[in-house]
Amino acid sequence: MKCEVNAAILPDTKEIEALTPGVCPVDWAKGCVEKAREENCGKNVMCRDGMTQLLAILSDLVRGKGESEDLELLRDLAQVISTSPGCGLAAKAAGNLLYSLDRYPEIWESHLRRKRCPAGVCEALAAQSAQREKRRERKRDRKLDADIIVVAAGLSGLTAATQAAENGAKVLVFEKSSTTGGAANMGMAFFAVESKYQRDQMYEWTRDQAFNEFMEYTHWKADAKLVRRWFNMSADTVEWVESFGVEFLGAYKYFKDSHLTQHMIKIPGATKPAERQASRMVKLMTDYATELGVDFRFRTPVKRLLTGEKGQVIGVVAAGEDGVEREYYSDAVIVGTGGIGNNVEMIKQHLGWTWGKDMFTFRIPA
Ligand SMILES: Cc1cc2nc3c(=O)[nH]c(=O)nc-3n(C[C@H](O)[C@H](O)[C@H](O)COP(=O)(O)OP(=O)(O)OC[C@H]3O[C@@H](n4cnc5c(N)ncnc54)[C@H](O)[C@@H]3O)c2cc1C
Repeated sequence: MKCEVNAAILPDTKEIEALTPGVCPVDWAKGCVEKAREENCGKNVMCRDGMTQLLAILSDLVRGKGESEDLELLRDLAQVISTSPGCGLAAKAAGNLLYSLDRYPEIWESHLRRKRCPAGVCEALAAQSAQREKRRERKRDRKLDADIIVVAAGLSGLTAATQAAENGAKVLVFEKSSTTGGAANMGMAFFAVESKYQRDQMYEWTRDQAFNEFMEYTHWKADAKLVRRWFNMSADTVEWVESFGVEFLGAYKYFKDSHLTQHMIKIPGATKPAERQASRMVKLMTDYATELGVDFRFRTPVKRLLTGEKGQVIGVVAAGEDGVEREYYSDAVIVGTGGIGNNVEMIKQHLGWTWGKDMFTFRIPA
């Protein structure tokens, strides 16, 4: 599909050939992508959805929310977009972004790692460093129950708690049921790409191929940054869980024509996959987290979040086994209470479907 908007509406790279006071090459590239996203005719997936993905990453970067893989991901996405046919506008915006990345790597790094905009243009970064100082002051005055409170001990909450404790944080977990693991106790395996098991089985499928296939399959609607991070970390995650005793049977297919990505967790003595074997990983991770000092409070549902003067989350209210609600304070709160698959009203509200009429899924309580 040919683009109907003239790419000349975007500035040329000569605008940032030399650094001008008051111009930030990161903000400049973001401006180009933003304009392409606003003005595109919407006929081409690269301008419509590709620009949205680039903008999400760039917006995080100028707000101090950039993550370590962001620059590599921006470069990869921009390269794909700048060479794909059909939309000159998207290609030029992506080309401008690549030019800025190549010419001013240290300025991009400064935004990413030091959360500083050398030109002082990206105001959110300056405001953030002032806020950080204020937070440090507040922390000195407040009594905290933990560095991090994790709401729920399903696999997401349990993993977050374990990793945080491994990084040295004091962690408090509230779980409404009497055990850890949530739905993962019914699982068998988890996804990974470029793992040592795939290498041993001579299965060649790279994280880049996986990423491109996934984004194409989801019509570029999935969160590119999250998908990239997941795929990049998946092989290390296999080795991380092995570090506290998890064993694998190997990498398997999920269905007949799928890739060999399902890393089957091994129950001691087993030689082939068995139902609910992922509960073995849940148990080992829970033991490891407990050893690291994670404080699990079972049968203690969190009722609401506590917020400070500016709306920032400062803790939770949880109801103990005696039914009494108490306040708990921490530096950060991670919520991992599962999906909305068992909530008919929320399915309707967020997806527009009526469960049992035009949507039929498992209804596993979270
Ligand atoms: C039958 C089945 C088989 C599956 N097999 C696989 C597989 O082989 N591989 C795979 O990758 N995925 C599999 N999945 C999917 C996978 O298990 C889930 O995506 C994953 O476990 C979700 O983890 P979670 O922590 O986000 O949520 P959940 O597992 O739903 O955990 C949510 C937790 O939140 C707690 N909670 C909720 N509200 C509160 C509150 N207010 N306060 C405190 N606690 C609260 C719940 O008690 C629960 O423990 C399977 C799912 C099912 C149902």
